[in-house]
Amino acid sequence: MHVVGPLRVAVVGSGPAGFYAAGQLLGSGFRVEVDVIERLPTPWGLVRLGVAPDHPEIKAVSRVFEKIARASGFRFFGNVEVGRDVSPAELALLYDAVIFAVGAQSDRRLGIPGEELPGSWPATAFVAWYNGHPDFQELDFDLSGERVVVVGNGNVAVDVARMLSLSREELVRTDATEAAIEAIAGAGVREIVMLGRRGPVQAAFTSPELRELGELGEAEVIVDPADLELDPVSEVSLAEDRSTARRNYELLRGYSSRRDGAKRKRLVLRFCTSPVALLGSARVEAVEVVRNRLVADARGELRPVATALRETIPCGLVLRSVGYRGVSIDGIPFDPERGVIANLGGRVLDGGGQTVPGLYCAGWIKRGPSGVIGTNKKDAAETVEALLADADAGLLRSEGGDLDALLGQRGVSVVNYAGWEAIDARERELGALLGRPRVKFARWQELLEAAGRPAGAGLDSPP
Ligand code: FAD
Ligand code: NAP
Repeated sequence: MHVVGPLRVAVVGSGPAGFYAAGQLLGSGFRVEVDVIERLPTPWGLVRLGVAPDHPEIKAVSRVFEKIARASGFRFFGNVEVGRDVSPAELALLYDAVIFAVGAQSDRRLGIPGEELPGSWPATAFVAWYNGHPDFQELDFDLSGERVVVVGNGNVAVDVARMLSLSREELVRTDATEAAIEAIAGAGVREIVMLGRRGPVQAAFTSPELRELGELGEAEVIVDPADLELDPVSEVSLAEDRSTARRNYELLRGYSSRRDGAKRKRLVLRFCTSPVALLGSARVEAVEVVRNRLVADARGELRPVATALRETIPCGLVLRSVGYRGVSIDGIPFDPERGVIANLGGRVLDGGGQTVPGLYCAGWIKRGPSGVIGTNKKDAAETVEALLADADAGLLRSEGGDLDALLGQRGVSVVNYAGWEAIDARERELGALLGRPRVKFARWQELLEAAGRPAGAGLDSPP
């Protein structure tokens, strides 16, 4: 290898992709120093602020990341936003290589009339709110109406529908914010309707998540047997399927034949139904939907095509859960079609399609907003392999200098790893008092104050 001294890499974003990349670099056998830069005072990305609060076993993957953070050569720069506190161009000068692992910070749109009405929200915002993301705590979700419509048939749609279906007893066992627990437990919501634009065989949700819906204390899953009647192409793909679609279909059949009516809430799963307009004068009052039939496209993929059958579903809140979307970073080539950084196997591409040595990407901003936590491990490995090959080929250069000094000159209040550990310890202490996994700090001020406080400090000022 041609680099003199340790290879110095900045990883922007501390979600799964950033942490897997950091761990792979530090474990590569090369002499490497990794600085992970994160705009929030807290690490783990969507593991802390996306994964559903009632899934603590999934959030426990953070233990893997904690081990990486303890490795020699690792530093954490929390509360530092790339593009605001330091530019990508400055990072490119300071480090031999920069990996962008910033996730997908926005949402896909439906593109239908009424989408902007008050009461119509992206699920991304609802998820961030109940999980305690400090940018989303001022949002006011009106949960007083009887019915909520969730658009989409992915695992995020299932998450938000399930969160709305939980009882107070189920909610208080989670690390959702106090505000979210109070709002959901005290809500007037009695029916959650989830709309899939295609059929049960094409649903994007996975079977354990679908099964869990049938095990809720306070909500009954309702599926109309007519929605499970399949077109011939879906029948063939179901017959050929040996995993998710088949298991999903069996679960849905079970739900369609079960109805006890004793539970307080109804969770209605509908298929081949698309919203065409959100209706209301000052805020959302209803969703106009159309029944779809499925038609195979040139590649044999079944697409929804609207029929003449329309219907209006009154509701007080619409959560649009049709996917996340990556946001461009100033100065870094972006593919606006896909909402990802233009890249080839994790190497950033310039406008002419040439790779830019020293710039890389990983995770959702590299491949788009799909895949589970583990998917980012393989994805990061491809990027790290490319980076190390470029280092070996002598393609990586830096001008030297230290990020710490630059941020110090700018008066940026960095939360280092010990600062995060102080937040973590205090959240767990507060949680222990209430028999909960943690009580999250969800305001910027609280987070920064807790970061400045040694772990185990007195419990004099709970959030
Ligand atoms: P992220 O996790 O989004 O991390 C990106 C990080 O970059 C964030 O911390 C962000 O603050 C930071 N950042 C952004 N911009 C900047 C900037 N300019 N400067 C500095 N930092 C920046 N997978 C599962 O396996 N199980 C689940 O139960 C599960 N549940 C999910 C629930 C939801 C609601 C969602 C949306 C996803 C879920 N996933 C789940 C998928 C999983 O969370 C993703 O695959 C994974 O988080 C993507 O990792 P990432 O590192 O690319 O992005
Ligand atoms: P997703 O899996 O891509 O699902 C998006 C859903 O939105 C699909 O059902 C899609 O339908 C639908 N959709 C897209 N555009 C639409 C439109 N215009 N009108 C109506 N419906 C539309 O995305 P996600 O749910 O945001 O999840 C992101 C990733 O995180 C996924 O890989 C998911 O598995 C993962 N995740 C995992 C878990 C877990 O493991 N428990 C939890 C949450 C998230 P079509 O299929 O017809 O396009």
